[in-house]
Amino acid sequence: HLIIARTPDAPPGVKGISLFLASKFEIKDDGSLGSRNDFRAGSIEHKLGIHGSPTCVMLYEDAQAELVGELGQGLPHMFVMMNAARLQVGVQGVAIAERAFQQALAFSQERKQGRTVWEADGMIYGHPDVRRMLMLMKAKIEAARAICLTTGVLSDLARLAASDEERAAAKARQELLTPIAKAWSTDVGVEVASLGVQVHGGMGFIEETGAAQHYRDARIAPIYEGTNGIQAIDLVGRKVGMEDGGVMRALCAELALTAESLTEVPDLAAVGRRLAAGVAALERATDWLLANRGADSLAAATPYLKLAGDVIGGAMLGRQALAAAGSDDPWMKSKGALARVYSSQVLSLAPGLADGLMDGALDMEATSAAALAP
Ligand SMILES: Cc1cc2nc3c(=O)[nH]c(=O)nc-3n(C[C@H](O)[C@H](O)[C@H](O)COP(=O)(O)OP(=O)(O)OC[C@H]3O[C@@H](n4cnc5c(N)ncnc54)[C@H](O)[C@@H]3O)c2cc1C
Repeated sequence: HLIIARTPDAPPGVKGISLFLASKFEIKDDGSLGSRNDFRAGSIEHKLGIHGSPTCVMLYEDAQAELVGELGQGLPHMFVMMNAARLQVGVQGVAIAERAFQQALAFSQERKQGRTVWEADGMIYGHPDVRRMLMLMKAKIEAARAICLTTGVLSDLARLAASDEERAAAKARQELLTPIAKAWSTDVGVEVASLGVQVHGGMGFIEETGAAQHYRDARIAPIYEGTNGIQAIDLVGRKVGMEDGGVMRALCAELALTAESLTEVPDLAAVGRRLAAGVAALERATDWLLANRGADSLAAATPYLKLAGDVIGGAMLGRQALAAAGSDDPWMKSKGALARVYSSQVLSLAPGLADGLMDGALDMEATSAAALAP
């Protein structure tokens, strides 16, 4: 077990936290196992979801543990694991969303209800609103997957690119994208799993179909490995400010080039136009954040992260659509359709999101718990 704990004479605050390793059995010098260490699971938590993964309250009484790394460096050591884990939890969001989508797609082709607008053997797949949900699910999954894969590639390039300059650039962008990969993708996991329940109608609320389990299981991912609120604060507090906003601005400039390329392809011109408006909104919000620190930027953090994820995800779908343009293969053709649906359902809202977040924290600061109480 890896544990963070304080030593008796540790200084207050995070500098007093160290990292320890407690093995279940004592390991003797000759490598053989000795007596059992004095720790145990006090209870197993009853949770909303992920019932296949027991979460325990651990009781360490007279347990023996070895220091890992340096005394007082527990948090920096733990962050080596946390940085990788954030991306991995983002991937969990994608994975659960994908499972929820596959199940919803299958159900939509088995369930008959009402007179359908489109031919689908009378199945609910023939209803425009059901198809809208399915395409939105798929588009968000593809966007989140692309953000996570890009962050993974950047983490490889940060170590392995040919020059110091390329490694430093990859590392900066990886740091910028990591909180977005974690928070945006896990929010997508919950949204898509919720849409999966909706596609099932009443049967989505009944455990028998399994759709509800995906929704319950998806709900932990925005919470653990640092809540999505904390990811957003990391984004606006440390990442957006890197190089005086230069890392975010360089990314926006690349997204704007994708928008330009999209506008030159007739079938994708609307995607390009909405992406350009989204990038402009993200740039405005970034300038505002850099000029407004403190409570204003903290109150704007979560909508800003959503805006960034929505726009970056849209650009990645746009690039996929550009790569697939001209192909007759149905799967490749779906890339253009998914980019268009995403642009009408998600990117079109980006300017409003930017406008709203720039209202800042005034009303939140001025309110009181008593005024909000019923
Ligand atoms: C099923 C499960 C498994 C877990 N597994 C592990 C594990 O293996 N290892 C491990 O170490 N931990 C684990 N955790 C703990 C988990 O990482 C924490 O629960 C999570 O990081 C949130 O911390 P918290 O519960 O203390 O919430 P709190 O920090 O109390 O947060 C409560 C609310 O306040 C907000 N908030 C808190 N601080 C701020 C701030 N400064 N600014 C703005 N908003 C703030 C949060 O975003 C949240 O909305 C697990 C938790 C669960 C539920």
